[in-house]
Amino acid sequence: MTIRGINFKVGIYDEEYFCHECEEQLKIGEVNKKTWRCNTCNKKLLIKIKDLEEHVVRLLPSEVDRFDSVFNYFDYEFVELKGIILHDNKKEYLLGIAEYRQHKVGKDDFLDCMWRY
Ligand SMILES: [Zn+2]
Repeated sequence: MTIRGINFKVGIYDEEYFCHECEEQLKIGEVNKKTWRCNTCNKKLLIKIKDLEEHVVRLLPSEVDRFDSVFNYFDYEFVELKGIILHDNKKEYLLGIAEYRQHKVGKDDFLDCMWRY
């Protein structure tokens, strides 16, 4: 698959929020948008994005590892990472993306990653 472009901006489509641990669905007003974790058990919330089969978890770049797949809203497909490192400026992370050039994201910018069981 050829990647046409990258858009990692989260929360642009209808979403549903669910805690796997508590087996509870949350309303948007109940969701902690600073952490995207459950207020009860502190586990990452599962997010169901409109028309997407897989669930995602919303991670800060510091929570992402190179085995994560990041949801690319541009192509509405996940992209596989080859690596993720903190930039020398300490404000951004550099993402190596399979079949694509490096991509920079701010350290406080959440990424939607495929939920791994
Ligand atoms: Zn929970």
